[in-house]
Amino acid sequence: MSDRPEDTPEQAEFRSASRSFLAEHAEPRTQIDPWQVSGFPDDAEAKVYFEHGRAWQRTLADHGWAGLTWPAEFGGGGRPPWTDRILREESADYGSHPGFIGATIAMLGPTLLAHASDELKARFLPSLLSGEVAWCQLFSEPGAGSDLASLSTRAVRDGDHWVVHGQKVWNSCAQFTDWGFLLVRTDPDAPKHRGITFLLVDMTSPGIEVRPLVQANGSSHFNEVFLSSVRIPTDQMVGEVHGGWTPTRTVLANEAAFIGRGGGAPASDRLRDLAARHGGLDDPTVRQRLALIISRERLQSLMGQRIQSAVRDGQRPPFDPALTKLLAAGTKVLTGDLAADLAGPSAIAGPVTDDREGTWVRAEVLNRFAISIGGGTTEVQKNNLAERSLGLPREPANDREAAWKDVLRS
Ligand SMILES: Cc1cc2nc3c(=O)[nH]c(=O)nc-3n(C[C@H](O)[C@H](O)[C@H](O)COP(=O)(O)OP(=O)(O)OC[C@H]3O[C@@H](n4cnc5c(N)ncnc54)[C@H](O)[C@@H]3O)c2cc1C
Repeated sequence: MSDRPEDTPEQAEFRSASRSFLAEHAEPRTQIDPWQVSGFPDDAEAKVYFEHGRAWQRTLADHGWAGLTWPAEFGGGGRPPWTDRILREESADYGSHPGFIGATIAMLGPTLLAHASDELKARFLPSLLSGEVAWCQLFSEPGAGSDLASLSTRAVRDGDHWVVHGQKVWNSCAQFTDWGFLLVRTDPDAPKHRGITFLLVDMTSPGIEVRPLVQANGSSHFNEVFLSSVRIPTDQMVGEVHGGWTPTRTVLANEAAFIGRGGGAPASDRLRDLAARHGGLDDPTVRQRLALIISRERLQSLMGQRIQSAVRDGQRPPFDPALTKLLAAGTKVLTGDLAADLAGPSAIAGPVTDDREGTWVRAEVLNRFAISIGGGTTEVQKNNLAERSLGLPREPANDREAAWKDVLRS
């Protein structure tokens, strides 16, 4: 039985149009190497993968299928929320997706729509949606990750510019992107959450240096970004001066929801193939572990659908979207562990070859904690859920009302 609500005539018509568009323009999943890994292990390959995603976003935009629910005046489709759901359902048989560009659109788009001036919306939303301008997130710092509000990158006003000094870190794909959304400290005398400003910065501005960080897997997904006397026009600000924490929360909530929603082919398909190849399909313990992973993937998908249908009906999500991120993070760990056990030590410790299956296994193993950390760690998400959803007492914090400049920092 299908979990899908029955389409109204209008929805059926839209579904049929989606099918025609995808059949003409998207890559069928069957034509894509099932063991493909996003830009791993080679950085040149990562750039190709990044641009491939950008090209798909451009195709969506060129044919009127990007930002279906966004206001038409800013490049969107001005359509009802269910159109997003139907396009996603119909896209499931295809491998085309916008990759990293999709993550930044999901984070920055709703933030600009909710908090930016009409001038900024008109200037930045259409090119964000078409992928013409790619963005990176410049939030984390060496001394500010989970406790993001303690960040120390300083911005001082000079006429109609902010002059920025500081360092960011773990900035995904910053080496490939055109603009960044950046958090800076503008009032050191205010408590940490109340002295932050949210700026938009051209990554080619003088004074910006992007240094890729080479990871254990050989690729450079992340970067350090150094800002030395970078001049940013004051009109490139989202929200109020010193009020950047409000748009930041919108970014973080949308980031957690995006990560939890997942996408692409379920990893359990590949695990089943691995079990068949390595003789694990008849092993009851392997079958049990596979069943657990498949059940969690199914739950994640059903939770995603519940959130989407609530949004479709103009209601609040039925539960905190952080729950889906927590579930997805736990599933990713189980997936990496089972992949390693099925493929055996040679897949992990053996020489790196062109073998696609081995590359997939190594990526699953090495990346299995990535989403437990990115977009807010599992521990911090649990704290948030405890406070926001369960109404438990807030974590003790003696620095909430103290001036940022007086608080001890790492
Ligand atoms: C895949 C990935 C992509 C990323 N992309 C970006 C990006 O594009 N831009 C960007 O700015 N940043 C990015 N990050 C950085 C990410 O936001 C931070 O790594 C994350 O917020 C955690 O911060 P931290 O690494 O400084 O760890 P810390 O905050 O130092 O945490 C260390 C450990 O302490 C635990 N901990 C900390 N505080 C608490 C608490 N209050 N209660 C319980 N446990 C706690 C954490 O859970 C963690 O286990 C990315 C990270 C990853 C993994």
